[in-house]
Amino acid sequence: MRLSRYFLPTLKENPSEAKIASHRLMLRAGMVRQGAAGIYSWLPLGQRVLRKIEQIVREEQDRAGALEVLMPTIQSAELWEESGRYDDYGKEMLRIEDRHGRKMLYGPTNEEMITDIFRREVKSYRDLPKNLYHIQWKFRDEIRPRFGIMRGREFLMKDAYSFDLTAEDGVNSYNAMFVAYLRTFARLGLRAIPMRADTGPIGGDLSHEFLVIADTGESEVFFHKDFNDMPMPADGADGAEELAAIVKGWTAPYAATEEMHDASACALGDDELVSGRGIEVGHIFFFGDKYSKPMGAEVQGPDGQSQPVQMGSYGVGVSRLVGGIIEASHDDNGIIWPESVAPFKLGLMNLGPKKDDCVAYCDKLYADLQAAGVEVLYDDRNDGAGAKFTNMDLIGLPWQAALGPRGLKNGVVELKNRATGEKIELSGEALVAKMTA
Ligand code: ATP
Ligand code: MG
Repeated sequence: MRLSRYFLPTLKENPSEAKIASHRLMLRAGMVRQGAAGIYSWLPLGQRVLRKIEQIVREEQDRAGALEVLMPTIQSAELWEESGRYDDYGKEMLRIEDRHGRKMLYGPTNEEMITDIFRREVKSYRDLPKNLYHIQWKFRDEIRPRFGIMRGREFLMKDAYSFDLTAEDGVNSYNAMFVAYLRTFARLGLRAIPMRADTGPIGGDLSHEFLVIADTGESEVFFHKDFNDMPMPADGADGAEELAAIVKGWTAPYAATEEMHDASACALGDDELVSGRGIEVGHIFFFGDKYSKPMGAEVQGPDGQSQPVQMGSYGVGVSRLVGGIIEASHDDNGIIWPESVAPFKLGLMNLGPKKDDCVAYCDKLYADLQAAGVEVLYDDRNDGAGAKFTNMDLIGLPWQAALGPRGLKNGVVELKNRATGEKIELSGEALVAKMTA
């Protein structure tokens, strides 16, 4: 992408409304703009990051055997009256009336809707287990939307729903999602710690929240220092026993958010207990027949008897993760994207935009990089070198390549690693090779 043709409205000054780094940097890097409190438009650079995160989340859901669907954002109130949550949910639910006077709502979550889809189609235990998920916008009329997209009113969530015959199978489905979450957050360059959680309005008795440790997190957290270097599960571990063993390993050390923390029950010494703040990026629940029973989602078991299915639900805050990743990875100059979610891998800067030979060289290098499949953002504008470097640091692409008249004379491009600051000089061909290695 040529920057001269892109839409990247960066800001030089820190916007006064932004209280935390991710909000500030997302505005300054031209990723999002606010429409109304807690409601944002995603501009091209932000949209690319959101899509990358979404895709990693999707791949790990698919790998765990979940099946992608897409449910609407607008729901009918009837299903919620059946489950009993229409009245319980309170003011966070945006209630709407259509032209016929029917009660509708903008979905804050989808337990009711998926339970309805399931009960209409599945009648036998032979069709179980099933796990259905979608990645869709949600609306919650948060009392205090803040920190940009971190606590929005409209936000993108991945939510999965599992259906099993027995509680034991249901726990296995829960474990599969638990492990998928570990893999997902690791691929996003994050260390997220699972903490036993309160089940809140979703209900049930088994639940974990996944928290990314960051000073600006909304929850206070307490955890064993062992979490700082816990090994990730090996690829291909997907049998019930293997999954249970991984979950056991990851839930054995103490970890609790402030609501669940009990200083007297926590036996850790000062040298073992770490306290800090965390951002909730995922939350999983096993709640048995909480919805299947009132809504009559039953299947016939091997004994011929009908029984309510055992369900779980599994959320990831996809849009919140954009902010979470920035909170975990930035410096005074801007964002530092992990390669897996970077909007482009490489920023190419022409430092001699008024010199024909520099233009010719950079244009050719840009074409070669594109032909090799490298995602490259090419700063071909007439700005000065200083402005270009500042801008590249701000938007945080993992690699920056610069070429000016001096480099051209020596036949070298200067390549900088955004995370380490390390610089090397190499030929254009070597750059293409390095970016595709
Ligand atoms: P919170 O405690 O942060 O309000 P929650 O427990 O109500 O979240 P869940 O119902 O568990 O949220 O939703 C699943 C995930 O969706 C959360 O783990 C979080 O990452 C994300 N999420 C929830 N509310 C918001 C919001 N207002 N803005 C952005 N992401 C959100
Ligand atoms: Mg939660």
